[in-house]
Amino acid sequence: MRKTRIIATLGPASSSETVLKQLMTAGVNVFRLNFSHGTHEGHARAVETINRLNEQLGTHVAILADLSGPKIRTGEVEHGSMELVPEELVTISSRPELCRKGRISVNYPDFASDVMEGEEILLDDGKILLKAVSSDGKESVTARVVQGGTLLSRKGVNLPDTRLSLPSLSEKDLYDLDFILKQDIQWVALSFVRTAGDIEMLRKRIAEAGLEFPPRIVAKIEKPEAVANAAAIIRAADAVMIARGDLGVEIPQEKVPIIQKKIVRMCIAASRPVIVATQMMEGMIASMRPTRAEVSDVANSVLDGADAVMLSGETSIGRFPVETVNTMRRIITDVESGEIIYPDVVPEETRQERRISDAVIMAAADLARKVNARALIAMTHTGYSAFKLASHRTPAGIYIFSDNRQLLCALSLVWGVEGIWIQTFSSTDSAMPEMRKKLIESGFIVKDDYIIYVSSIPIGKAGKTNMLKLSVV
Ligand code: PGA
Ligand code: MN
Repeated sequence: MRKTRIIATLGPASSSETVLKQLMTAGVNVFRLNFSHGTHEGHARAVETINRLNEQLGTHVAILADLSGPKIRTGEVEHGSMELVPEELVTISSRPELCRKGRISVNYPDFASDVMEGEEILLDDGKILLKAVSSDGKESVTARVVQGGTLLSRKGVNLPDTRLSLPSLSEKDLYDLDFILKQDIQWVALSFVRTAGDIEMLRKRIAEAGLEFPPRIVAKIEKPEAVANAAAIIRAADAVMIARGDLGVEIPQEKVPIIQKKIVRMCIAASRPVIVATQMMEGMIASMRPTRAEVSDVANSVLDGADAVMLSGETSIGRFPVETVNTMRRIITDVESGEIIYPDVVPEETRQERRISDAVIMAAADLARKVNARALIAMTHTGYSAFKLASHRTPAGIYIFSDNRQLLCALSLVWGVEGIWIQTFSSTDSAMPEMRKKLIESGFIVKDDYIIYVSSIPIGKAGKTNMLKLSVV
């Protein structure tokens, strides 16, 4: 059973029912809807199709809606493109106007009051670099081109040195969130998170909708401020994405690999699923085969202990979306057949009221290692035990039973967890034989395997995990 999850970003290359089905069969666990692109109608169609395919295939593939956050873009360029040459002075204006020789517009009203002299301005994923020379403090900044290039319309602007006064949730994000909260979507990601407060604000917005099963939050780490505030952000979020695309522009890119390793470890310790994203198999946008370096990148992310690896352009606009997922799955499966994929990070005890649950789950994980158990089995209403069991990264399969399909989908992001639907059960005693029967039928466990149950007695809506049972099939 594969432990590391695959996330595929949807786009024109992958939104048809045929391709979606092929991607699910190839091993996608989570689909990402990128709200920087596409329309609500298009996203709604994808959600509807994925949920229908989940029913048809008996799977629990999750949906992750990715909000743009405070992403800054340049305006339209006159005649489609313009050249920026080194040493040239350019006026960057926050007035809506066409970009043309010597003038660039940005969709950021406070640009001139936030950007200070000497700060870097990066355009188009860092391909073009300018330095601010002066600002009129109101609507324009004069900048010198350091590294030139061709600028096309609506390219991303990164301001790594600037303290942005932009709100964390833009008008568009709120409009998108409104839509997301009406769909069966289990995860919402926020781009360009700066502080834990950004996550708390989004959580408050989500809570206001009063949903029975509110989506959980992924914090995207892609700014230097987020790296500095990582511990608090990880605690505030339900999961984390190491968004290497923007991160590698906002900080020197040679620093990204070590930050990846550190954040993965912090997330495992905090029992938060962690996603490694961007350019994993970039070459497969146009080519049938990845490069050796790409294969190594996927393999090393698995070895770091990531819960999930993500595909972006490869599946959204690439020529070979299904082949890319197949290739990624093969790399993961092969790496996982080795023995060094279990990072020796010990999850921290969480809050006081969870101490009992945490201790029992830790004992279950230790026991699983000692007897080389095949399965760790739990019933859950909240998912807590699934997140916690996974963070121990034991070789045993983790089988989580729930009567809530939305929860089972949400758990598709989590390392090594197999979610299994079960009709409500009245007691732990009656549930154990039923769960064991299902696992035997599915071939997950066989005669003589050691299996470990964790549960709560009596069974309750959000009961403490207080029971641990080892048995032999
Ligand atoms: P994006 O986020 O694809 O939404 O920009 C991922 C990243 O920046 O790496
Ligand atoms: Mn990004």
